[in-house]
Amino acid sequence: MLLSKLFIPILKNNPSEAKIKSHQLMLRVGMIKQASAGIYSWLPLGFKVMKKIEEIVRQEQNKIGAQEILMPTIQSSEIWKESGRYEDYGEEMLRIKDRQNREMLYGPTNEEQVTEIFRSSLKSYKSLPQLLYHIQWKFRDEIRPRFGIMRGREFYMKDAYSFDISDDEAFYSYNKFFLSYLRTFKRLSLTAIPMAADTGPIGGNLSHEFIILADTGESKIFTDKRVFDLNSNETELEKNSLQQMRKKYEQYYSVTDEKFNKEEFEKVVSEENRLITKGIEVGHIFYFGDKYSKAMGASVDLPGGKKDFVKMGSYGIGVSRLVGAIIEAKYDDKNEIMKWPLSVAPYDIALIPMINKNDTSALDKAININKELIKNNIDAIIDDTEENFSSKIKKMNLIGTPYQIIIGKKTDGDLLEFKETGKETQNISLTKIVEIIKKQKNSN
Ligand code: ATP
Ligand code: MG
Repeated sequence: MLLSKLFIPILKNNPSEAKIKSHQLMLRVGMIKQASAGIYSWLPLGFKVMKKIEEIVRQEQNKIGAQEILMPTIQSSEIWKESGRYEDYGEEMLRIKDRQNREMLYGPTNEEQVTEIFRSSLKSYKSLPQLLYHIQWKFRDEIRPRFGIMRGREFYMKDAYSFDISDDEAFYSYNKFFLSYLRTFKRLSLTAIPMAADTGPIGGNLSHEFIILADTGESKIFTDKRVFDLNSNETELEKNSLQQMRKKYEQYYSVTDEKFNKEEFEKVVSEENRLITKGIEVGHIFYFGDKYSKAMGASVDLPGGKKDFVKMGSYGIGVSRLVGAIIEAKYDDKNEIMKWPLSVAPYDIALIPMINKNDTSALDKAININKELIKNNIDAIIDDTEENFSSKIKKMNLIGTPYQIIIGKKTDGDLLEFKETGKETQNISLTKIVEIIKKQKNSN
């Protein structure tokens, strides 16, 4: 794609209203545009990144056997009255009336809606387990929307729901999502740590928040830092091995502030392993048993003929928040260099030809190189403007393609000036460049 034809409204300087680096960068390179407080339009660059994140989230949900559905954004108040949350949810819920004067709401989450779908469709234990998810806009009238899309009022979330016959089976479902989250964040090149968390208005008794470290995060965390060295390479969805995997994480103290207990922390974590810091919550999983199924009458027939309420859990990932979280983790704001992980980068590589009015030969070379890249499924952005070299580099460093090729007048023969964004230039052939990028893509 030619940069001059793209809708990427770049600002010369950081916008003063943005306080954290992800918000600054997203406005600066025109990834988003504020529509009103906490509500944003997604422009091409930002939308591309979010869609790639969404696709990784989707693939990892599918891998554990979850089935994708799509529930509406607008819900009826009736089901929320059944669960008792219509009153409890408070002012974060946006309440609307339709022309018949019926009370509707813009969904802040979907436990009620999905329970309603389940209870009217499935009746037997033979259909269990069921893992259902959707990726949909949510609205929460946050008291303090801030940091751009990090705490929006309208935001994009993946939320999944599990239905099981017993606690034991439900923990198995919980552990599948636990693993799926570790895998998802790893593919986004983030280190997200599961931390024991409070269940809040969702209710229940087992919960983990997945948190990435960042000074600008809103979650305060207390950990045994050895938890950061753990890795999970489970390939089988086997019950016991998943149980072991969760235990491996739970052996180290790591909690958010609602669960923090100073005495216990100091007792179980030696001084040199204590880490008290801040992080961004990118996912949250809950087990809440029959809290909703009982209130809403979602039961199944058991083998012996009795009935029981299904045991449920819910599992959220902040898809739109992740765009900001990746920037917080990867953007070097001092040197103004962003390098997106290749798995979600808006473009794989930038071609930066040196062009002036009398000589467009470098642009021609770039266009030829691009033909070869297209054949290899590599998505390039070509800076076809006549700006000077340093402003071109600056701009591409902000857009954050993982790789760059600089094409000068002297570029001749087989060797190209290639670099990983932010690193030293190497002179290598196009064949070799294609090989490097393809190899990196396949590793994801
Ligand atoms: P928080 O403590 O940040 O308000 P939460 O516990 O209310 O989050 P959940 O209900 O568990 O969030 O929602 C699942 C995920 O959705 C969160 O882990 C987070 O990544 C994302 N999320 C929640 N609220 C917002 C928001 N206002 N803007 C953007 N993403 C959000
Ligand atoms: Mg919240």
